[in-house]
Amino acid sequence: MPFQPAHPIPYGRQHITDEDIQVVAETLRSDFLTQGPKVLEFEEKFAAYIGAQHAVAVSNGTAALHLCALALGVQPGQRVITTPITFAASANCVRYCGGEVHFADIDPATALIDLRLVRKLLESHPKGYFHGLIPVDFAGLPVDLEEARKLADEFGLWIIEDACHSPGGFFQDSTGQRQRCGNGQLADLAIFSFHPVKHIATGEGGMITTNRPDLYEKLLLLRSHGITKDPAKMHRHDGGWYMEMQTLGYNYRISDILTALGISQLGRAEAGLARRRQLAARYDQAFAKVAAIRLLATTPGNAYHLYVLQVEDRKGLYDFLRTRQIFAQVHYIPVHTMPYYQQLGWQQGDFPHAEAYYDHCLSIPMFPALTDDEQQYVIDCILEFVA
Ligand SMILES: *Cc1c(COP(=O)(O)O)cnc(C)c1O
Repeated sequence: MPFQPAHPIPYGRQHITDEDIQVVAETLRSDFLTQGPKVLEFEEKFAAYIGAQHAVAVSNGTAALHLCALALGVQPGQRVITTPITFAASANCVRYCGGEVHFADIDPATALIDLRLVRKLLESHPKGYFHGLIPVDFAGLPVDLEEARKLADEFGLWIIEDACHSPGGFFQDSTGQRQRCGNGQLADLAIFSFHPVKHIATGEGGMITTNRPDLYEKLLLLRSHGITKDPAKMHRHDGGWYMEMQTLGYNYRISDILTALGISQLGRAEAGLARRRQLAARYDQAFAKVAAIRLLATTPGNAYHLYVLQVEDRKGLYDFLRTRQIFAQVHYIPVHTMPYYQQLGWQQGDFPHAEAYYDHCLSIPMFPALTDDEQQYVIDCILEFVA
């Protein structure tokens, strides 16, 4: 009897244990439902895991991006470069602040922003024309932030690393040192998401990491209405009730309920990452010699948020897998081809590598709870289709 999946197999999903449920239930019985001691504990543990000095937990990854753009002072007239192959939020955060989004095409071998094209773009304008760079560790493959930092220093840019796909990932720098994604050594700020398909799930949730104390202080204020309750930072002292709104902030707080779940999930992050790498190695082996399937280049530091195939008949494969209860997904529809960005002047044809990639890419199931039998079934179905 051939293997039949008991449930539909998605491209990604959360893994919730009884222990996760227990810690959330305990938090519900505590005094803190909104921001309390669990938020602080999650921030400290996450910063230690990533190797950064500061972490600020927020309501989601998009809020993290918005706060980063605000803290860096993005405003109308400023121009920021990102990749067309990312989730729209990587670009949208610039628009929230009235800035202009520019794109550099991807390297077809990795689907990451091509830093050689970023250099060309920077060199074709006067210094000061661009203000920031938002590289994305797409699918979990870390961007070469050492090269990005060189460009940033040369052209006066800040860097927000969108590390939503790469917690625990690393790249090897030119001295042979492992640079963990989001560790604050090269980027000014890095952001993470705890959406259910990401490595660590809290339902909704996000994190910013940084080694810059000035940005850390700004982020804390902006996360909660621009209000401080710290007497040492106030301009006056009316009494014990007094708190001070010093800038226009938001409510982008995350709750103790969700961060309790995050702490519990963080405890399994390394095991989940190891499982993702194991699944990737098995897929690599199954597909490496199949002429009809193209794989993205990889490195040992890949955190494998996604596992991407490129095939000639992508729609055919997507539809076929659905008939077999396998729910693959496409990451991503190029941001510059979205009607909103086309209204801003970007056109189909502007970034041919990103568009060609989009025509053929498919993300197949990649999540720690995927069983060996399920993975073999996925492999068999894909090989059957391309045969
Ligand atoms: C998930 C994701 C985001 C946004 O995170 P949310 O928590 O869903 O707001 C931003 N960038 C990338 C690359 C993502 O994958």
